[in-house]
Amino acid sequence: MTPEEDDIPHLDRSVGNLAGVSAERAIQLEKLKCPSIRNLLYLRPRRYEDRRNIRPIRDLSPEAHSLIKGKILAAGNKRLRGGRRLFEFILEDPSGQISCRWWNINYMSRYFNIGDDVLVYGKLSKGKKAVMDHPETEIIENDEDSTIHVNRIVPVYPLTEGISQRWLRRFMYNFVHQHLQVIEEPNYAAAGLLSHRDAINALHFPDSMDHAATARKRLALDEFVSLQCLLQRRRNNLQTKSKALPCAGDGSFSKPFLKEIGFQLTTPQRTVSMEINADLNGKYPMRRLLQGDVGSGKTVVAALAMLRTLESGFNALLMVPTEILAEQHYSNFSRWLAKLNIHVRLHTGSRKESKAPLFSKNIPTITIGTHALFQSSFSLNDVGLVVIDEQHKFGVSQRDLLLRKGHFPHLLVMTATPIPRTLGLTLYGDLDCSVIDELPAGRGKINTYVRTPSSRDKIIVFLKEQISLGRQAYVIFPRVENEDPSIGIKAVKAESKRLSKEFHTHKIGVLHGRLKPEEKAQIMAEFRENRVQVLLSTTVVEVGVDVPNANLMLIENADQFGLAQLHQLRGRIGRGKHESYCILLATDKSNQPNERLKVLEETNDGFKVAEADLQLRGPGELTGHDQSGLPNFLFGDLRSDLDLIQLARNLAREIEAGS
Ligand code: ADP
Ligand code: MG
Repeated sequence: MTPEEDDIPHLDRSVGNLAGVSAERAIQLEKLKCPSIRNLLYLRPRRYEDRRNIRPIRDLSPEAHSLIKGKILAAGNKRLRGGRRLFEFILEDPSGQISCRWWNINYMSRYFNIGDDVLVYGKLSKGKKAVMDHPETEIIENDEDSTIHVNRIVPVYPLTEGISQRWLRRFMYNFVHQHLQVIEEPNYAAAGLLSHRDAINALHFPDSMDHAATARKRLALDEFVSLQCLLQRRRNNLQTKSKALPCAGDGSFSKPFLKEIGFQLTTPQRTVSMEINADLNGKYPMRRLLQGDVGSGKTVVAALAMLRTLESGFNALLMVPTEILAEQHYSNFSRWLAKLNIHVRLHTGSRKESKAPLFSKNIPTITIGTHALFQSSFSLNDVGLVVIDEQHKFGVSQRDLLLRKGHFPHLLVMTATPIPRTLGLTLYGDLDCSVIDELPAGRGKINTYVRTPSSRDKIIVFLKEQISLGRQAYVIFPRVENEDPSIGIKAVKAESKRLSKEFHTHKIGVLHGRLKPEEKAQIMAEFRENRVQVLLSTTVVEVGVDVPNANLMLIENADQFGLAQLHQLRGRIGRGKHESYCILLATDKSNQPNERLKVLEETNDGFKVAEADLQLRGPGELTGHDQSGLPNFLFGDLRSDLDLIQLARNLAREIEAGS
């Protein structure tokens, strides 16, 4: 060890200094994302193999993976018609023989010799009697390592070129034992779970499959606890550093506004408004998340909060993810607030009044803007409230960036679609949460149908009938332009020609992100005023757009979208008094209606849709990847660990209160 290495905490030291790790190995381990001792200790096996439970070849099935062990009788390469290559060996055990095959892999023949004892993990190929394609294998070299590689449950690690399963497993066997003591045990009790150290040991060499599962849980808990502590600390920091701006208001704007909108608030809208008012009048700046299904009426609630702020002498900022939505909010707010002495301003990439200050002097101002707000070096000094609409389109860091510009303004973030509890607690764990769980009265259910392209003609006839009755339709495409038409994914530009013929008696509008902002605004205005009856669009209309007379939506290549996104899209309809229809066309090769999409046929409840999406596609897809600020958990699983996350949250509260 070099003298400098001495100063580095043990766990952070490089694996290159370990006995048995050559320079070449160190590079390989780095490729496995294990440059340090810590990384290696927490290297999670891909799966485990119970090598006390070896099956006879005869018992293999095409349904489930199993482990067999036998001797290689014959092995060789074959070249097939069409130039495809195949490596094959025949394995025998006392119960029978099986052929194991690999396609187009050149180097396989180098590894195996006739007479080798081999462990093979896989399942029978469909429709074949005694064939396994691309199974995983491990040659048993000698009996000496029987304590490590056989007669037990063994870890199967992720590998990289040059590292063999056997080398890594033997290495880990000693390594884990040697370094385990260095790991500090967290100082909170996790009742019923293994200690952290025992969990690491069991992660690599468990006594049973259950043992491995409990180990995973313990390590996941500790991961969740560190995150929750972070969130808790953030929250505590805010409360020690900052005093809330008093924004209780006096009703002078909000009362006339409630008269102007022409409808009664729903019960949850009222409850949530009261929660928000309490925050605006509270000791600490508000940090609140407002969840509500599409169409539940979050905008009015946000407007009320902003008006309270204005009544108290501060300005308010409303930030949205798209220009279309900004324009829509701008026109609604301008209309609602026309009779009041309030400025409503728009600040988007194309419509910023660049020289003018963001807020008017002496006149209370609501500024509505997009990402463009981040670029401007405005000061938020006299802003009392920041509202972020459709929060899932922004990252957590962007949210912080905006807040840092001001004197701890109040913050209200609104999500477009409801999010499952596990995700909510992880992404928004530092926020208080309000939920609007009821739609305004008179909202019909959106009738949703999953269909295949073979029904398109019938669907077009149906849409035309509806449009003749005065209704309007959205037709949604995954792409703007077709880069590669052969893959069958439709693009709005190409399809517009065909559809203009089909709907020649009506006016068609085309909307997508590559249009100039004025063009977008123009088309949206025409659609809103029913001068355009069929709006062909990409997902730019996904969030927030509100045209009550449009009750029809056809989504092409619906299988290209996530469930939560489709739910959000169909939320554009079902906003008026007419029965609504959403048709999802899925291009399944088998021409069978897509199973995944059926969730949308079955429920209109955004929470259920989001939960199904989480299970099917995972949290990354649901939140929109990198920018969401979702941590990469090694052990935690947001699909199933709600109980652990809740436990972690409670532990974090105690820990942070005690420190
Ligand atoms: P979202 O929660 O998806 O943002 P919006 O705020 O856009 O929903 O509201 C959807 C529509 O419902 C708007 O046209 C809005 O004016 C209307 N709305 C909101 N609250 C009510 C209510 N209490 N009664 C009737 N209509 C309402
Ligand atoms: Mg909205």
